[in-house]
Amino acid sequence: MTQPGSLVLVATPIGNLGDLSARALEVLGDAEVVACEDTRRTRRLLSAAGIRATRLEALHAHNERERTPALVRAMEAGATVALVSDAGTPTISDPGSRLVAAAVAAGLAVSVVPGPSAAVAAVALSGFNANRWVFEGFLPTRGRERRERVAAIAAETRPVVCYEAPHRIASTLAELAAVCGPERAAVLARELTKLHEEVWRGTLAELAARAAAGEPRGEHTFVVAGASPDPPPSAEEILAAVHDALATGSSTREAAAIAARRCGCPRAVAYRVALEVRSGGSVVSP
Ligand code: SAM
Repeated sequence: MTQPGSLVLVATPIGNLGDLSARALEVLGDAEVVACEDTRRTRRLLSAAGIRATRLEALHAHNERERTPALVRAMEAGATVALVSDAGTPTISDPGSRLVAAAVAAGLAVSVVPGPSAAVAAVALSGFNANRWVFEGFLPTRGRERRERVAAIAAETRPVVCYEAPHRIASTLAELAAVCGPERAAVLARELTKLHEEVWRGTLAELAARAAAGEPRGEHTFVVAGASPDPPPSAEEILAAVHDALATGSSTREAAAIAARRCGCPRAVAYRVALEVRSGGSVVSP
Protein backbone atom coordinates (compact mmCIF):
# COMPACT_ATOMS: atom_id res chain seq x y z
CA MET A 1 0.00 0.00 0.00
CA THR A 2 1.59 3.32 -1.01
CA GLN A 3 1.00 6.57 0.82
CA PRO A 4 -1.07 9.08 -1.21
CA GLY A 5 0.85 12.19 -2.12
CA SER A 6 4.22 10.49 -2.17
CA LEU A 7 7.06 9.55 -4.49
CA VAL A 8 7.98 5.89 -4.95
CA LEU A 9 11.20 4.90 -6.72
CA VAL A 10 10.60 1.62 -8.52
CA ALA A 11 13.41 -0.58 -9.85
CA THR A 12 12.63 -2.36 -13.12
CA PRO A 13 14.38 -5.25 -14.89
CA ILE A 14 17.80 -4.79 -16.55
CA GLY A 15 16.78 -7.38 -19.13
CA ASN A 16 14.69 -10.22 -17.82
CA LEU A 17 11.05 -9.18 -17.35
CA GLY A 18 10.69 -11.87 -14.71
CA ASP A 19 12.73 -9.63 -12.42
CA LEU A 20 9.88 -7.12 -12.06
CA SER A 21 8.79 -7.71 -8.47
CA ALA A 22 5.23 -8.23 -7.28
CA ARG A 23 5.43 -5.03 -5.26
CA ALA A 24 6.76 -3.08 -8.26
CA LEU A 25 3.73 -4.26 -10.25
CA GLU A 26 1.37 -3.22 -7.47
CA VAL A 27 2.89 0.24 -7.11
CA LEU A 28 3.04 0.86 -10.87
CA GLY A 29 -0.58 -0.24 -11.20
CA ASP A 30 -1.77 1.97 -8.33
CA ALA A 31 0.24 5.16 -9.03
CA GLU A 32 -1.64 8.10 -10.52
CA VAL A 33 1.48 9.03 -12.49
CA VAL A 34 4.46 6.99 -13.62
CA ALA A 35 7.39 9.28 -14.39
CA CYS A 36 9.72 7.51 -16.79
CA GLU A 37 12.63 8.21 -19.14
CA ASP A 38 10.98 6.88 -22.28
CA THR A 39 7.18 6.61 -22.29
CA ARG A 40 7.08 4.08 -25.15
CA ARG A 41 9.54 1.78 -23.46
CA THR A 42 7.76 1.96 -20.10
CA ARG A 43 4.38 1.52 -21.81
CA ARG A 44 5.70 -1.74 -23.29
CA LEU A 45 6.92 -2.87 -19.86
CA LEU A 46 3.58 -2.06 -18.24
CA SER A 47 1.59 -3.68 -21.06
CA ALA A 48 3.67 -6.85 -20.78
CA ALA A 49 2.77 -6.85 -17.07
CA GLY A 50 -0.93 -6.30 -17.83
CA ILE A 51 -1.05 -2.69 -16.59
CA ARG A 52 -2.81 -0.31 -18.97
CA ALA A 53 -4.50 2.68 -17.37
CA THR A 54 -1.51 4.43 -15.79
CA ARG A 55 -0.65 7.99 -16.83
CA LEU A 56 2.95 8.15 -18.06
CA GLU A 57 5.03 11.33 -17.98
CA ALA A 58 8.45 11.69 -19.52
CA LEU A 59 11.18 12.60 -17.05
CA HIS A 60 14.64 12.40 -18.53
CA ALA A 61 18.04 14.08 -18.35
CA HIS A 62 16.90 16.94 -20.59
CA ASN A 63 13.62 17.89 -18.88
CA GLU A 64 13.99 16.81 -15.25
CA ARG A 65 14.64 20.36 -14.08
CA GLU A 66 11.54 21.82 -15.72
CA ARG A 67 9.20 18.84 -15.04
CA THR A 68 10.06 18.48 -11.35
CA PRO A 69 7.93 21.38 -9.97
CA ALA A 70 4.73 20.08 -11.66
CA LEU A 71 5.33 16.56 -10.33
CA VAL A 72 5.89 17.94 -6.83
CA ARG A 73 2.62 19.93 -7.11
CA ALA A 74 0.80 16.77 -8.22
CA MET A 75 2.11 14.93 -5.17
CA GLU A 76 1.19 17.84 -2.90
CA ALA A 77 -2.33 17.57 -4.33
CA GLY A 78 -2.40 13.91 -3.25
CA ALA A 79 -1.11 11.97 -6.28
CA THR A 80 1.25 9.05 -5.88
CA VAL A 81 4.06 9.36 -8.40
CA ALA A 82 6.09 6.25 -9.26
CA LEU A 83 9.51 6.95 -10.75
CA VAL A 84 11.17 4.43 -13.05
CA SER A 85 14.09 4.61 -15.46
CA ASP A 86 14.60 2.68 -18.69
CA ALA A 87 16.14 -0.19 -16.75
CA GLY A 88 17.38 -0.94 -13.27
CA THR A 89 17.19 1.39 -10.31
CA PRO A 90 16.23 5.02 -11.05
CA THR A 91 18.82 7.68 -10.08
CA ILE A 92 21.75 5.23 -10.42
CA SER A 93 23.51 6.75 -13.46
CA ASP A 94 19.96 7.68 -14.42
CA PRO A 95 17.65 10.67 -13.91
CA GLY A 96 15.57 11.14 -10.77
CA SER A 97 17.84 12.53 -8.04
CA ARG A 98 16.55 16.05 -8.63
CA LEU A 99 12.94 14.91 -8.24
CA VAL A 100 13.81 12.97 -5.06
CA ALA A 101 15.55 16.04 -3.59
CA ALA A 102 12.60 18.28 -4.50
CA ALA A 103 10.09 15.86 -2.95
CA VAL A 104 12.16 15.67 0.24
CA ALA A 105 12.45 19.47 0.33
CA ALA A 106 8.64 19.74 -0.03
CA GLY A 107 8.20 17.44 2.98
CA LEU A 108 6.70 14.62 0.88
CA ALA A 109 7.20 10.95 1.71
CA VAL A 110 9.71 9.17 -0.53
CA SER A 111 9.95 5.40 -0.58
CA VAL A 112 11.56 2.76 -2.76
CA VAL A 113 10.73 -0.58 -4.31
CA PRO A 114 14.26 -1.94 -4.61
CA GLY A 115 15.26 -4.39 -7.29
CA PRO A 116 17.63 -4.87 -10.21
CA SER A 117 20.70 -2.73 -10.71
CA ALA A 118 23.52 -3.72 -13.06
CA ALA A 119 26.17 -2.42 -10.63
CA VAL A 120 25.05 -4.59 -7.74
CA ALA A 121 24.52 -7.60 -10.02
CA ALA A 122 28.03 -7.27 -11.49
CA VAL A 123 29.89 -6.79 -8.22
CA ALA A 124 28.03 -9.74 -6.69
CA LEU A 125 29.00 -11.91 -9.68
CA SER A 126 32.60 -10.71 -9.64
CA GLY A 127 33.70 -12.87 -6.74
CA PHE A 128 35.79 -9.97 -5.43
CA ASN A 129 35.25 -9.05 -1.79
CA ALA A 130 32.03 -7.06 -2.05
CA ASN A 131 31.77 -5.98 1.59
CA ARG A 132 33.18 -2.64 0.48
CA TRP A 133 33.21 -1.45 -3.12
CA VAL A 134 33.16 1.70 -5.18
CA PHE A 135 30.72 2.69 -7.92
CA GLU A 136 32.25 4.91 -10.61
CA GLY A 137 29.33 4.77 -13.07
CA PHE A 138 30.35 5.96 -16.54
CA LEU A 139 33.91 7.27 -16.69
CA PRO A 140 34.28 10.72 -18.26
CA THR A 141 35.01 10.13 -21.93
CA ARG A 142 38.17 12.21 -22.21
CA GLY A 143 40.52 14.79 -20.78
CA ARG A 144 41.86 15.50 -17.34
CA GLU A 145 38.70 14.36 -15.58
CA ARG A 146 39.03 10.93 -17.17
CA ARG A 147 42.75 10.66 -16.34
CA GLU A 148 41.98 11.53 -12.72
CA ARG A 149 39.21 8.90 -12.43
CA VAL A 150 41.42 6.24 -14.03
CA ALA A 151 44.29 7.12 -11.65
CA ALA A 152 41.86 6.91 -8.72
CA ILE A 153 40.78 3.43 -9.85
CA ALA A 154 44.43 2.37 -10.08
CA ALA A 155 45.02 3.42 -6.46
CA GLU A 156 41.71 2.12 -5.07
CA THR A 157 41.99 -0.94 -2.82
CA ARG A 158 38.27 -1.76 -3.03
CA PRO A 159 36.69 -3.29 -6.16
CA VAL A 160 35.45 -0.60 -8.55
CA VAL A 161 32.32 -0.98 -10.70
CA CYS A 162 31.92 0.97 -13.95
CA TYR A 163 29.32 1.18 -16.67
CA GLU A 164 30.57 1.50 -20.23
CA ALA A 165 29.19 1.85 -23.74
CA PRO A 166 29.97 -1.11 -26.04
CA HIS A 167 32.01 0.94 -28.54
CA ARG A 168 34.31 2.15 -25.77
CA ILE A 169 34.75 -1.01 -23.76
CA ALA A 170 37.95 -2.24 -25.47
CA SER A 171 39.74 1.11 -25.28
CA THR A 172 38.65 1.72 -21.67
CA LEU A 173 39.90 -1.70 -20.55
CA ALA A 174 43.18 -1.11 -22.44
CA GLU A 175 43.65 2.25 -20.73
CA LEU A 176 42.93 0.72 -17.33
CA ALA A 177 45.42 -2.11 -18.06
CA ALA A 178 48.05 0.52 -18.86
CA VAL A 179 47.44 2.53 -15.69
CA CYS A 180 46.46 -0.18 -13.15
CA GLY A 181 48.92 -2.73 -14.55
CA PRO A 182 48.07 -5.50 -17.03
CA GLU A 183 47.84 -8.15 -14.31
CA ARG A 184 45.07 -6.48 -12.29
CA ALA A 185 42.09 -8.84 -12.16
CA ALA A 186 38.77 -7.72 -13.62
CA VAL A 187 35.34 -9.06 -14.54
CA LEU A 188 33.26 -7.95 -17.50
CA ALA A 189 29.52 -8.62 -17.27
CA ARG A 190 27.61 -8.30 -20.53
CA GLU A 191 23.87 -8.44 -21.14
CA LEU A 192 23.14 -9.58 -17.58
CA THR A 193 19.85 -11.46 -17.16
CA LYS A 194 19.36 -11.55 -20.95
CA LEU A 195 19.61 -14.36 -23.49
CA HIS A 196 23.23 -13.55 -24.38
CA GLU A 197 24.47 -12.97 -20.83
CA GLU A 198 28.25 -13.41 -20.59
CA VAL A 199 30.72 -12.97 -17.77
CA TRP A 200 34.41 -12.74 -18.64
CA ARG A 201 36.99 -13.16 -15.91
CA GLY A 202 40.69 -12.48 -16.27
CA THR A 203 43.30 -9.77 -16.09
CA LEU A 204 42.63 -6.30 -17.47
CA ALA A 205 45.06 -7.05 -20.32
CA GLU A 206 43.24 -10.29 -21.18
CA LEU A 207 39.81 -8.67 -21.11
CA ALA A 208 41.01 -5.70 -23.16
CA ALA A 209 42.49 -8.04 -25.81
CA ARG A 210 39.33 -10.13 -25.90
CA ALA A 211 37.12 -7.06 -26.27
CA ALA A 212 39.38 -5.66 -29.01
CA ALA A 213 39.24 -8.94 -30.92
CA GLY A 214 35.46 -8.81 -31.28
CA GLU A 215 32.77 -6.25 -31.83
CA PRO A 216 31.28 -5.84 -28.36
CA ARG A 217 27.53 -5.30 -28.45
CA GLY A 218 24.89 -4.78 -25.80
CA GLU A 219 25.15 -3.55 -22.23
CA HIS A 220 28.45 -3.82 -20.38
CA THR A 221 29.36 -3.41 -16.73
CA PHE A 222 32.86 -4.18 -15.51
CA VAL A 223 34.47 -4.58 -12.12
CA VAL A 224 38.17 -3.90 -11.49
CA ALA A 225 39.66 -5.71 -8.50
CA GLY A 226 41.05 -3.45 -5.79
CA ALA A 227 44.78 -2.72 -5.75
CA SER A 228 46.71 -4.82 -3.23
CA PRO A 229 47.53 -2.67 -0.23
CA ASP A 230 51.24 -1.81 0.05
CA PRO A 231 53.15 -4.68 1.70
CA PRO A 232 54.38 -3.91 5.23
CA PRO A 233 57.96 -2.56 5.34
CA SER A 234 60.71 -5.12 5.86
CA ALA A 235 62.92 -5.13 8.98
CA GLU A 236 65.82 -3.95 6.80
CA GLU A 237 63.86 -0.94 5.54
CA ILE A 238 62.94 0.15 9.07
CA LEU A 239 66.51 -0.38 10.28
CA ALA A 240 67.90 1.66 7.37
CA ALA A 241 65.43 4.47 8.04
CA VAL A 242 66.32 4.52 11.76
CA HIS A 243 70.05 4.55 10.95
CA ASP A 244 69.60 7.44 8.50
CA ALA A 245 67.62 9.46 11.05
CA LEU A 246 70.11 8.81 13.90
CA ALA A 247 72.98 9.72 11.57
CA THR A 248 71.50 13.22 11.16
CA GLY A 249 71.60 13.73 14.95
CA SER A 250 67.98 12.92 15.75
CA SER A 251 67.12 11.66 19.22
CA THR A 252 65.89 8.08 19.58
CA ARG A 253 62.30 9.31 19.76
CA GLU A 254 62.69 11.62 16.75
CA ALA A 255 64.41 8.90 14.72
CA ALA A 256 61.54 6.52 15.48
CA ALA A 257 58.99 9.11 14.33
CA ILE A 258 60.92 9.85 11.12
CA ALA A 259 61.41 6.15 10.31
CA ALA A 260 57.75 5.37 11.06
CA ARG A 261 56.64 8.11 8.66
CA ARG A 262 59.07 7.02 5.95
CA CYS A 263 58.20 3.33 6.17
CA GLY A 264 54.54 3.62 7.05
CA CYS A 265 54.92 1.42 10.14
CA PRO A 266 53.70 1.99 13.70
CA ARG A 267 55.90 4.41 15.65
CA ALA A 268 56.27 1.88 18.50
CA VAL A 269 57.87 -0.60 16.09
CA ALA A 270 60.38 1.97 14.83
CA TYR A 271 61.07 3.09 18.42
CA ARG A 272 62.00 -0.45 19.45
CA VAL A 273 64.42 -0.66 16.53
CA ALA A 274 65.89 2.76 17.38
CA LEU A 275 66.42 1.72 21.03
CA GLU A 276 68.22 -1.45 19.93
CA VAL A 277 70.45 0.52 17.57
CA ARG A 278 71.27 3.09 20.28
CA SER A 279 72.15 0.39 22.79
CA GLY A 280 74.33 -1.30 20.19
CA GLY A 281 72.25 -4.48 20.23
CA SER A 282 71.49 -6.53 17.16
CA VAL A 283 68.09 -6.02 15.72
CA VAL A 284 66.54 -9.36 14.87
CA SER A 285 63.12 -8.28 13.71
CA PRO A 286 60.97 -5.24 14.38
N1 SAM B 1 20.04 2.61 -13.39
C1 SAM B 1 20.60 1.47 -14.07
C2 SAM B 1 20.92 0.39 -13.05
O1 SAM B 1 20.53 0.51 -11.90
O2 SAM B 1 21.54 -0.61 -13.42
C3 SAM B 1 21.79 1.85 -14.89
C4 SAM B 1 21.48 2.85 -15.95
S1 SAM B 1 22.82 3.29 -16.96
C5 SAM B 1 22.13 4.57 -17.92
C6 SAM B 1 22.88 2.00 -18.14
C7 SAM B 1 24.17 1.18 -18.06
O3 SAM B 1 24.03 0.15 -17.11
C8 SAM B 1 24.51 0.45 -19.35
O4 SAM B 1 25.19 1.30 -20.27
C9 SAM B 1 25.40 -0.66 -18.86
O5 SAM B 1 26.70 -0.18 -18.61
C10 SAM B 1 24.73 -1.00 -17.52
N2 SAM B 1 23.75 -2.07 -17.72
C11 SAM B 1 22.41 -1.94 -17.81
N3 SAM B 1 21.83 -3.15 -18.03
C12 SAM B 1 22.84 -4.05 -18.07
C13 SAM B 1 22.89 -5.45 -18.29
N4 SAM B 1 21.79 -6.16 -18.51
N5 SAM B 1 24.10 -6.06 -18.25
C14 SAM B 1 25.23 -5.35 -18.03
N6 SAM B 1 25.23 -4.03 -17.84
C15 SAM B 1 24.06 -3.38 -17.86
